[in-house]
Amino acid sequence: MSKLHGLLALSLVVAACASSDPGPSPTTAGSAPSSTSPVNVRTVDPRPGAPGIGDPLYPNLGNGGYDVADYRLELEVEPATGMVRGIAAVEAVALHDLSSFNLDLVGMEVRSVDVAVAERRGAATWRRRGRELVVVPAEPIPAGVVFVVTVVYEGVPGPVPEGAVPFAPGWRKVGDTIYVFDQPDGAAGWFPANDHPRDRATMTLTVTVPEDVVVVSAGERSSRRVGDGRREYRWVIDDPIAPYLVPLGIGPFRERAEPPAGSIPVTTWFDPDIPEGRLEPFRRQGEMVEFFAERFGPYPFERIGALIVEDESLRAALETQEVSTYTSPSLAWGEAVVAHELAHQWFGDAVTVARWDDIWLNEGFATFGQWLWAEHDVGPEVYDRQVMRAYRTMSGLDRASSGVPPEDAARQAREAYPPPDHPRADELFSASVYQRGGLTLVALRDLVGDEGVFDVLEEWVRRFGGRSATTEDFVALVEERLGAEAAELVTAFVEDPQIPPMPQRGLAPPG
Ligand SMILES: [Zn+2]
Repeated sequence: MSKLHGLLALSLVVAACASSDPGPSPTTAGSAPSSTSPVNVRTVDPRPGAPGIGDPLYPNLGNGGYDVADYRLELEVEPATGMVRGIAAVEAVALHDLSSFNLDLVGMEVRSVDVAVAERRGAATWRRRGRELVVVPAEPIPAGVVFVVTVVYEGVPGPVPEGAVPFAPGWRKVGDTIYVFDQPDGAAGWFPANDHPRDRATMTLTVTVPEDVVVVSAGERSSRRVGDGRREYRWVIDDPIAPYLVPLGIGPFRERAEPPAGSIPVTTWFDPDIPEGRLEPFRRQGEMVEFFAERFGPYPFERIGALIVEDESLRAALETQEVSTYTSPSLAWGEAVVAHELAHQWFGDAVTVARWDDIWLNEGFATFGQWLWAEHDVGPEVYDRQVMRAYRTMSGLDRASSGVPPEDAARQAREAYPPPDHPRADELFSASVYQRGGLTLVALRDLVGDEGVFDVLEEWVRRFGGRSATTEDFVALVEERLGAEAAELVTAFVEDPQIPPMPQRGLAPPG
């Protein structure tokens, strides 16, 4: 959510540091001495905040009972050992009377937890349970009241081993270089969070590192020497951000200014081992953003950037907000991946998903954006060829033309590429989510033309930017702007077992 402007006239005191008591071990309950008196607002019906935010696909992700407004995160990082010492001050508003609430935190050793309510800071008891850090404030927190929970913690973060998906997202260390790849639930591996795209907040990220490395993130940057050969970097992220979209790179990155998009600056940070010749596509980021802005509406953030990390073990890119993250093997995808991640700044970052099983709203839209860029830059035949190839795969036409009987080919395709909305928990990033998701917008464009499809996409970001949304929200918007036939087309493309025909292209499933 956005900042708590005018919500409550409470002034807040953020605990700068907890007691020197090292606290209990992370597997046991703990408490620190209390020096507080209760808040003068009565609670009527205090109960625990839910351990999950209510995501139907991943019931334990995120948390209920509060809404984060701001994270103040201070990390001391030793790149050589990977050791992190952190203080996280999480400012939130209680959504109901809270007897306790959870933060998501995986691994790391918690040293202390306290909760400040209305200038009164008090010890809290806490316990760990899987990825949940359960916090019990000294007094229940009344609904509507702002509180700040401060967690002092340390450890060597790593990828999140028991995450929502088959791979391990999170904090990655390659040599002395560190970066994060947190989709969907890896952020909890390095800071206590309400780790779900439904709860966005501003963030001030302060990271202290040795002088020979730099820290890259989003927002407004400053840095200062802090002695002992160390430097403190501060990144102030004013546009509310989902935890998984926070970029972070710590390493010997070089910085290159690229041609801007109008007045919006573009910066590429890259590992010095990557030859500059491989970075050519990043010269065009500003041009791509200008192209998308004409179709999707104004670029939703204040800066554009890329962080390119040398990591041969992972071929991936992630649309971290403002500054997308690319591993070196992903550069093989050329301009397509850069266009894809930039399109995500509108679809995925400005508008986040309210439920992870609506991920096609991110991936299908970004795939469509990537095809549009190819059409613009190379020519319509490239767009048509990519669309045709995706349709032939998703429908089974390619199987049929290689000799599989048509009905069998269509059935095999239905099984291999189920509809993109509501994928299974282990299919969040399946080919169908991307390609049939992208084909959905191609089919809509075929039906209503450029004016109609771009009107809807621009209105989508205007209406839901800074918030999260669902497939139902999108279908309702399509119906409102383009009528029932267009809405039915979108629903059929994302929900029917069989991909619908694309009559304007003469395409239909086999059989
Ligand atoms: Zn994507």
